[in-house]
Amino acid sequence: MNVSSIFGCMAFNDVVMRERLPKSTYRELKRAISENQPLPLEVANVVANAMKDWAIEKGATHFTHWFQPMTGITAEKHDSFITPTPEGGVIMEFSGKELIKGEPDASSFPSGGLRSTFEARGYTSWDPTSYAFIKDGTLCIPTAFCSYTGEALDKKTPLLRSMRAVNSQAKRILKLFGSSDSVEVTTTVGAEQEYFLVDKDDFDKREDLIYTGRTLFGAKPPKGQELEDHYFGTIKPRVGAFMKELDEELWKLGVLAKTKHNEVAPAQHELAPVFTTTNIATDHNQLTMEVMRKIAKRHNLVCLLHEKPFAGINGSGKHNNWSISTSDGVNLLNPGKSPEDNAQFLLFLAAIIKGVDEYQDILRISVASAGNDHRLGANEAPPAIVSIFLGDELTAILDAIEKGYKYDKRKKSIMRIGVDFMPPFAKDTTDRNRTSPFAFTGNKFEFRMPGSTFSIAGPNTVLNTIVAEELSCFADELESATDFNAALAEIIRRTIREHKRIIFNGNGYDAAWIAEAEKRGLSNLKSTADALPRLLDEKNVRLFEKFNVYSLGELKSRYEILIETYSKIVNIEANTMLDMAKRQILPAVCDYTKSLAESLTLKKALGTDTEPEESIYKSLTEKSKGIFESINALEKVTEEAHAVKDEQKRAEYYHEKVIPAMDALRGYADAAETLTAEKYWPFPNYGKLLFSV
Ligand code: ADP
Ligand code: MG
Repeated sequence: MNVSSIFGCMAFNDVVMRERLPKSTYRELKRAISENQPLPLEVANVVANAMKDWAIEKGATHFTHWFQPMTGITAEKHDSFITPTPEGGVIMEFSGKELIKGEPDASSFPSGGLRSTFEARGYTSWDPTSYAFIKDGTLCIPTAFCSYTGEALDKKTPLLRSMRAVNSQAKRILKLFGSSDSVEVTTTVGAEQEYFLVDKDDFDKREDLIYTGRTLFGAKPPKGQELEDHYFGTIKPRVGAFMKELDEELWKLGVLAKTKHNEVAPAQHELAPVFTTTNIATDHNQLTMEVMRKIAKRHNLVCLLHEKPFAGINGSGKHNNWSISTSDGVNLLNPGKSPEDNAQFLLFLAAIIKGVDEYQDILRISVASAGNDHRLGANEAPPAIVSIFLGDELTAILDAIEKGYKYDKRKKSIMRIGVDFMPPFAKDTTDRNRTSPFAFTGNKFEFRMPGSTFSIAGPNTVLNTIVAEELSCFADELESATDFNAALAEIIRRTIREHKRIIFNGNGYDAAWIAEAEKRGLSNLKSTADALPRLLDEKNVRLFEKFNVYSLGELKSRYEILIETYSKIVNIEANTMLDMAKRQILPAVCDYTKSLAESLTLKKALGTDTEPEESIYKSLTEKSKGIFESINALEKVTEEAHAVKDEQKRAEYYHEKVIPAMDALRGYADAAETLTAEKYWPFPNYGKLLFSV
């Protein structure tokens, strides 16, 4: 297969635009994008027509405004290109107006109170910074989704706003270092996507997977991931065929799928793309997840994107590799070779250190969900405590700067602080730590907390905004300084002194770290229910309002949606457990105990030894009693949860009461599974799910 000939063949990308648009239209479109200006209707008409012709040649019949509502997934409503003619036929038409603006009836998307039902309609507007593409015969136009009063009803609008904020603040800093006005700054992201593949026949037999995306029951299989023989292991043919088709499909859409390998857990895999602008990376990650699910079905597989599909086995995350680049192609997080570059690098690094320390809470919130609660702080993923890993060498350099020493690998000698304080250091010394939530990996940061189902829009909106804020404060100070170098050195030294508590190079899984972090005053928001209310803390509202990323109303709506979603998810899980326990597990255990009882009676009549049957019968009867009682207990607490009026209190109730009741039920059921003859068990077990593909 010729990859370069299929790459992007389904995307209306720059190559196609250049080829198909009149020169003047192309120029105007590019200008509108770079200056963030609306496209004049005449120009939009030309673009729309070219897009339509191109799409029809590729077999498309419909178009859709593709958007990302606050549910975290994507939405689309398809319209065909047909327009009736007076003769009773149709022609294929697509106007600039249809390209630029759509009015989906969006009353069923969550708005968190932003849009009252009588004002049901929102509108979508074309985001020309992300290429249109064809998916399943439909031209998809990436769009932002707003209410009529202009509030963002989606994940993309705040992301675009945050990118604008970083751009303008970073430009102020670069200018102080002598950069030209024409340079633009964007953040870049490469999102590594982890996922599980299970056989579809097995999947279809499990209500928990169908309704919740994760297993709510399941005893440990004899083998888990302890041999570490899956990570980077040989890819099985069926999985390989899936990966090959996935790559091809993604390449056609212009998604830069690059690396694929087996992950730590059995049946777990990963796909990493080449990084790109945050906005496009976000769209492409959404597409990647969608295409993964679709292609899996073609191989009679199901792709599980849940953060924790299996208890006792590693969960899935989405490592968000993040950096800042200029339009000249300079990565601002690349420690430079010259003293000036180094000073600039250190200033950006300082901004990130300060931002992460001051806004630990919103970074934590940006990755909070019922699913990710099983991962963060459990013994595998980064802890729920936010900290930064810099590596020993960079940390030692910062330490030397703070104390006014010149950093020297062998001996530390005193120097005056100028701009020449940073020696070159080896990149490979920085990427040894896999337990850190936010790790410097040589020329970018890897934010490891996002869960595998997450839209990366949220975490990146937060990252961009906090960095914009710190750059803005630094720029204020530097622009008014009389001695630039002195002020620069002072900012860097002060930031290290005041915010070094956030730097932690040790093992994040270690229990000692929790105590140490508490001593350092770092926040430890263990669960979604604990974390979410902090979103509305005054300092956070002020931050988002300052850069027009979220208004107070928009923030409140996000909080409301998130907290409600949390309770809804736990409630669905509890209901699913009850259903499975009552209609599948208990009956299965009863059947088996009945056969044991029959065997017992027979054997007794024959005067044979009945010890095995008796012993299993007794244990199973105990377990089924436990199951029965925990069903009642779980029913009681879910009913009580429904009665809690306040959303926050209800989420806390689910967290504190319902989840432990679910765990108790699972405990008895899993114990019963290990005692019940296999042919009685009503659904495929862990061993089958994890090892049969
Ligand atoms: P490592 O193996 O050290 O994590 P890789 O080069 O494999 O590093 O990168 C992992 C991910 O980080 C990839 O998705 C890659 O595209 C992305 N990445 C690399 N450089 C950058 C950058 N400057 N900005 C954002 N993401 C990046
Ligand atoms: Mg990585």
